[in-house]
Amino acid sequence: MTFRGLLGVVLLLALLAGGGLAWFRAEGDAPTITAEIPAAVGAPGRAMAIEVSDSGSGLRQVRVVIEHAQGEVVASETLYPGNLGWGGEPPRLSERVEFRIDPKELGLPEGPAKLVASARDWSWRDGFLGNETRWEVPLEIDLVKPRIQVESGLTYVSRGGSGAVTYRVGESPVRDGVQVADAFFPGYPVPGEDEESSRRIALFAVPTDAPTDPRIEVIAEDSAGNIGHASWPAVLKEKKLPDDDVILPRRFLETVVRNLAEVEGVATDDLESAFDEINTRVRASNEARIRQVVADTSPVPLWQGAFTQLRNSKVTSRFAEQRTYLSEGVKISSATHFGYDLASTAGAPIEASTSGRVVFAEDLGIYGQCVIVDHGLGLFTLYAHLSRMDVSAGDIVEKNEQLGLSGATGLAGGDHLHFATILGGTYVEPLEWWDPLWVRTHVEERIKAASP
Ligand SMILES: [Zn+2]
Repeated sequence: MTFRGLLGVVLLLALLAGGGLAWFRAEGDAPTITAEIPAAVGAPGRAMAIEVSDSGSGLRQVRVVIEHAQGEVVASETLYPGNLGWGGEPPRLSERVEFRIDPKELGLPEGPAKLVASARDWSWRDGFLGNETRWEVPLEIDLVKPRIQVESGLTYVSRGGSGAVTYRVGESPVRDGVQVADAFFPGYPVPGEDEESSRRIALFAVPTDAPTDPRIEVIAEDSAGNIGHASWPAVLKEKKLPDDDVILPRRFLETVVRNLAEVEGVATDDLESAFDEINTRVRASNEARIRQVVADTSPVPLWQGAFTQLRNSKVTSRFAEQRTYLSEGVKISSATHFGYDLASTAGAPIEASTSGRVVFAEDLGIYGQCVIVDHGLGLFTLYAHLSRMDVSAGDIVEKNEQLGLSGATGLAGGDHLHFATILGGTYVEPLEWWDPLWVRTHVEERIKAASP
């Protein structure tokens, strides 16, 4: 082959290689964008994310722009390293871009807007700028808080006690109810109103451990995340929680505590320590299970009127007693007693204190055989230490329908009923719910109050 011939072959090979490289570097696989963006953003702003991927030369740039009536603003811009020779270095094939849309910070006016996300890769296409993908979605900028009009007047509520409030919300909220310090009590449609009615009711409580003078207010959040607040004259009646010393007899430690410890996997070489572990760790896990059970409630009330106390029973322990447990004169543990202990004859019939739906009927650690009944709007009753259960979860029960027989299962020194009322996941004073006058004036008259 002549020199010119050889040069020709080399040039041809170089051209082919260059063409191959150009073909490779000018790939046409544009990035893809996926995201779930909320329909609206409120004054508090919102965190969002988009997923971007590229199967070719790698991502080069991702931008998020908000277009609104008065212009546009860049909400997020990310540049990925690389060069036109080799593309992305290292090639970014899949990225999650997180950003925050804060209307105040970005100067976004109230009204309809559009979120436009765009991504480019390191391809030579589009005059070496790369393949571009645009993705857009409407985004409502809503800076107006839901308007709340509280109907209820002066409300007295005791520490550990319950209350009810009715109110109207100007737009349909995604979340509304009463906030008492850190505790939130959801609202529900007022029973008996037509579907268009915006009247809402929330049963709420002041947890025994709420701070002094807690903030009590109605809140409503709209789909954009704006939260409206409305306070009304709610007055907390402080109450000193009673103290109680409980002396644990040796016989109780040797039998009840030893047996329960074995069931719960607690070491029994020291029965005082076993009691303390049952009274703290096992109790906490039982309470967590109860909170899980009462997280789901009927949005309509399943009961009417006052609750009933166990027939012919004597109160042996009251609500929210601050108990100190003593063995041979030494303090070995402490706990708050969040129910009433009611003693009757052994094996006494235990009846539903009002109508509702059984949501739990199982053996539960310190509570022994335990039944929980949902009465709707976040209100539940709990019956513990039963010797026999006659109902199961899902059963609808009438007021005074038999749930089982009293007993001494779980952490109990003798046959009695441990009865508790729970509202919005918080234990509340049962006395109020047993009192027909209290239920009428604090709940039933409030429901009727503003009915047209
Ligand atoms: Zn008890």
